[in-house]
Amino acid sequence: MSDMTPAFRILAAKGNPAPVVYDSPHSGSIYPDDFDHCIDRMLLRQAEDAHIEELFAPVADLGAPLLHALFPRSYIDPNRAETDLDVTMIDGDWPGPVEPSSKTVERGAGLIWRLMRGDGALYDRRLTLAEVHHRIKTCWQPYHDALATLIDDTHARHGVSYHVDCHSMPAMGDANSEDGPVPRPDFIVGDRDGTTCEPAFTALITDHLRAEGFHVTINDPYKGVELVRRYADPMAGRHSVQLEINRRLFMDEETLSKTSGYLEMEAVLLRLNRAIIAYARAIV
Ligand SMILES: [Zn+2]
Repeated sequence: MSDMTPAFRILAAKGNPAPVVYDSPHSGSIYPDDFDHCIDRMLLRQAEDAHIEELFAPVADLGAPLLHALFPRSYIDPNRAETDLDVTMIDGDWPGPVEPSSKTVERGAGLIWRLMRGDGALYDRRLTLAEVHHRIKTCWQPYHDALATLIDDTHARHGVSYHVDCHSMPAMGDANSEDGPVPRPDFIVGDRDGTTCEPAFTALITDHLRAEGFHVTINDPYKGVELVRRYADPMAGRHSVQLEINRRLFMDEETLSKTSGYLEMEAVLLRLNRAIIAYARAIV
């Protein structure tokens, strides 16, 4: 990845546009030349939400665009506020406002990750002010601008927008995660305790997946973070939801290889996304 590498790709909606926007902020796997991490690359790659952009790609044929990051979330995380920084990682005085979240302080997983879950530090050095600025300017900001534009355009066209922020999660929590070292459900639907979308939208997704036999929780332990917080305004018809899929259903978490469950997950998500898009079209 050089300075000329774009930060994201958009799969444009085909046919009759639906009032739905999808984004996959964590599936990027083009590692920038200036990353200069010390942790083993394959361990670091376990932070990726691998295959998520491919699993959701068929939404474009259903009328909804899909934005996906090309840079890895371990380089800079679009699902964190630009103020969610651990300044002890930086050599020099960071000039902007800083408001580190508990994820940053307790788990080293802020805007720029310090720690990889259970596997130690990403860097054996401090980052320069210039490289932090560079990551924000070339990756974080363009990704946010692209998502804001997709949602604004959708809202302008239809008077309403439904945004699905797509992720995957490790099968087990660990000592550092919100839930501790316990097996996770198949799916987690996050609406930040009912603040980022109308209740019926959360219920539609949850009920659909439960009817297919999946174990689904709501806001437990993942409520959704910056991408659903920042662009949601349910009273103004802007609805955002975070969807977390358990990786054990479709991939090997260590090698990132697809497993035999992958094709079934593709079919599950196609049915789910048809239901989401039908719901949103019926509102308009
Ligand atoms: Zn994710």
